[in-house]
Amino acid sequence: MNEYGRETSKRARNEKVRRAREQFMMLVLLLALVPTILCIILFSKQARLKGDIEALEQKLKRYELQNNSTGGGSPNPGAGTENPTPFPSPTTTPAATPTEPAAAPTQGAAAGEEDSSDVILSSIDGRPVTVTPGADGKPIGGTQPEDNTEPFATPTPFPTPTIAVDPKTGELLPWANKKVYITFDDGPSKNTDELLDLLSEYGVKATFFVIGHEGEDYARLYKRIAEEGHAIGMHSYSHDYGKIYKSVEDFEKDFTKISNLLYDTIGYVPDLYRFPGGSSNSKCKALTIQPFISFLLERDMRYFDWNVENGDATGKSYTVEELAQNLLDGVEKKTTSVVLCHDTNAKGKTLESMKIVLPTLIEKGAQILPITADTPMIRHVKPAQEE
Ligand SMILES: [Zn+2]
Repeated sequence: MNEYGRETSKRARNEKVRRAREQFMMLVLLLALVPTILCIILFSKQARLKGDIEALEQKLKRYELQNNSTGGGSPNPGAGTENPTPFPSPTTTPAATPTEPAAAPTQGAAAGEEDSSDVILSSIDGRPVTVTPGADGKPIGGTQPEDNTEPFATPTPFPTPTIAVDPKTGELLPWANKKVYITFDDGPSKNTDELLDLLSEYGVKATFFVIGHEGEDYARLYKRIAEEGHAIGMHSYSHDYGKIYKSVEDFEKDFTKISNLLYDTIGYVPDLYRFPGGSSNSKCKALTIQPFISFLLERDMRYFDWNVENGDATGKSYTVEELAQNLLDGVEKKTTSVVLCHDTNAKGKTLESMKIVLPTLIEKGAQILPITADTPMIRHVKPAQEE
């Protein structure tokens, strides 16, 4: 009996040990099996994705070839920064170039004269493509006020704007082929800091055609404009039509003054000029502006007028929304827009309107750029020798 009882409890213990061993073995097996199965699944997934990438890469290559053959003469030398991300829709063509209606700036000038740049994008992919304007390395600026022998400090290189593609569909956004050069005349002003903050918030660069202001705070503003990568052009020192257009000598005096002021503050003299009132200003006729044009050309300066304006200097009191709409309506009709706006103490509404203009342009995919060496020149009055 005692013997029997001992035997039974021994058997029971053995049984328990056996079961525990079995359970342990099952656990070990399970622990080994799960990662193996996971590995197999992941490997097959990876192989499938690799295949997808190859197919898309081929599509991209085909698309690039197609694009190069249609857009051989792309006016944008910077376009073409390669990006390996495949473009999901290789048959997409850039948005149609709208025909240019005769521009009608309020001053009755013949604007839009050279606005013929049919922009064809030479590199597109699923993500925005970076494009460098002025990629020939020519900075804005370089002429020296009195002595043309020494080179000037190179201004901050311009940033890379993006050509916008809808990230969901891969299609170009409706205004992706539009280049918009927003220009602010008559600054700096008490609004300049906020304007610069806003431009920086949206990551875009503009062009400031500045006039002469003395004092530390203005010096800081000229510097800030240049340092933040915006283009700076001269717009005369005095902005006084009666003074500067009196004679070439008077024009030169004023030109030297603004050149020196900018050289002292930003370290170089810009090679951009905008005539006060434009080349078609009320003081000069097409003929009488010619000596002033020649003066600039002799100094390797380029002058720019505009073919779109927001209307902030037309004497009409537009609301913030109207100013934005004027600008957007103008841009809609152009492939290349050089937009006239003002940066003076009285133009707070223009500053406000930029809070509508900038996000709208970006949303539609337009490229907002500073004027660079390769910007098509928009001029109301051409030099006589080019007539
Ligand atoms: Zn002006």
